[in-house]
Amino acid sequence: MTYADASSAIRSPVQACLEQLHARLADLTAGQVATYIPELAKVDPALFGIVIATVDGRLYEVGDTRVPFTLQSISKPLVYGVALEDQGTERVHRAVGVEPSGEAFNAISLEPGTGRPMNPMINAGAIACSSLVAGASAQARRARVLDAISAYAGRPLAIDEAVFESERATGHRNRAIGHMLRNYGIIEDDPELALDLYFQQCSVQVDCRDLALIAATLANGGVNPLTARRAVRAEYITAILSVMTTCGVYDFTGGWVFNVGLPAKSGVGGGVLAVLPGQLGIGVFSPALDERGNSVRGVQVCETLSSELALHFLQPPRPSAATVRARYTLAEVRSKRRRGDAERRVLDEHGRRAAVYELQGDLRFSTIEQVVREITEAAPAGLDFAVLDFKRVSHADQAATRLLAQLVGYGAAHGLNLVLTRVRRGELLAAFGNELDPQCARSVSFQPQLDLGLEWCERGLLQRHGAAGMAGTAGARCSLAEHGLCAGMSPADLALLQACVEPHQFDAGMPILRRGDPGDALYLLLRGEVSVTVELPGGGHKRLSTLTAGMSFGELALVNGGLRSADVRADTQVECCALPTTALARLEAERPSLMIRLLHNLLANATLTAVQLTAEVAALEA
Ligand code: GLN
Repeated sequence: MTYADASSAIRSPVQACLEQLHARLADLTAGQVATYIPELAKVDPALFGIVIATVDGRLYEVGDTRVPFTLQSISKPLVYGVALEDQGTERVHRAVGVEPSGEAFNAISLEPGTGRPMNPMINAGAIACSSLVAGASAQARRARVLDAISAYAGRPLAIDEAVFESERATGHRNRAIGHMLRNYGIIEDDPELALDLYFQQCSVQVDCRDLALIAATLANGGVNPLTARRAVRAEYITAILSVMTTCGVYDFTGGWVFNVGLPAKSGVGGGVLAVLPGQLGIGVFSPALDERGNSVRGVQVCETLSSELALHFLQPPRPSAATVRARYTLAEVRSKRRRGDAERRVLDEHGRRAAVYELQGDLRFSTIEQVVREITEAAPAGLDFAVLDFKRVSHADQAATRLLAQLVGYGAAHGLNLVLTRVRRGELLAAFGNELDPQCARSVSFQPQLDLGLEWCERGLLQRHGAAGMAGTAGARCSLAEHGLCAGMSPADLALLQACVEPHQFDAGMPILRRGDPGDALYLLLRGEVSVTVELPGGGHKRLSTLTAGMSFGELALVNGGLRSADVRADTQVECCALPTTALARLEAERPSLMIRLLHNLLANATLTAVQLTAEVAALEA
């Protein structure tokens, strides 16, 4: 059996859960289909479908999920969104409130004094919203609404003209509400126009799968997970979900929030949708309604799914991982710039004054607060630098960028420098730009690599705590006698060595060694800087080390004469001398004592590197 066969034979556990639930509730025959709209009375009460859609676009369906029915009141939150987009929050809320009414969906009650409907989920509020849809003609407004709802569902939807005509011909109660709204000046023009649009939006034909996708679009910040098309501006999602939470199932809202705990909307067509923000949408279709006009099975499905899958929105998941995935100081982990003894001693002593926080996941108030707290508590105890690495940060919301910008301000006032590494270009960087006080810009540095951020801190520590000029010794030249590999050699050995080496010069930017070249010489750096890098599989380079005068590279030549494992390039004007493997072999035979000295010095270097790498591994594993 191939893998594909196996996966189609095994049912998804989520699918299995839904099927069991569907089978259990199919026996529930309580409730009546709506009859006050004659066309709705024709529907088969046995129909029953459930769909779950995740925000990443996975659908689980069971039962009658492709049978068309009309949206009815489920159109209300969507058209409320259209009104908000077309007129802005202030204008819309002059026409309709956001208070739960605790009354039936078709109650004829308006706020005393203002005549405003209590909220956009009861008919009065919804009709007021329909009157606010923008468009030069009735046709244009109808198209605007149909297009918006289609964007939520992710496919072009149509109006069930029979249901529309049926409700239009019999909807006297809604007509009364419309004219009352006109009387109070809530509707400013002909109420029949708003009523027609309202009856049309209620008659938009969907299936259960559409409902789940509409819900998932609301869960996904307004973007349909399958088409990636935006149905409503992100800034209105919270408003829409709020009124769904407090008013979505009319006079059953308290019980619904208590038992289900998901923003939801029902319609007398038999549909119910529920939204778990950021995660999923649920659509249920079952036309038999309870006395409040909510689908009997729809309520049961949502209650059961909420409790069995722990979806209640007041039972939020704990943050899945710590925001700080690794924390260490420069006492343990250094940049890849190799340091001489004097600099190393300064960094050993003061390295704990620079702390690194590798962050991960979503940064929002609750996660960044811990980091900001830790840094501000550490600062008075002698923290000069804080590096925040963003490599694994998936998102930072406005609260997080604001707190980080405040932290920069705190740093400016307390002598703490902030280094933000690997912050992705684009939105996040722009958000920082907007929040940062330009006066404090000098106390923050953005570095494209963590390694460069560490080096930036080292330079700062050396400037503050090192001997004057220590951080800027790159230009100094050392003679062969002063070179680290020649430490402890006699004048005679030095003279012999001098005779074997070949001098080389490189301009800044020139390649010196390339990965894959034969390892035929050891190099002693006498002036300038070189960097050793490897190419990363995904493109780009990683620095393994930066070396200065008195250091060496290409040691591999001594060991096995194999191929170069990394690239070496001159960062500045470079002077070095090469000791070819042929000369090394001759020295080994003619002057073993010199060779022992050389190997001894190389081993001392290698040991230092090993010690540093060990500390790094230990710090990263801690
Ligand atoms: N069109 C229906 C009405 O206005 C919508 C009511 C509903 O779905 N609750 O009566």
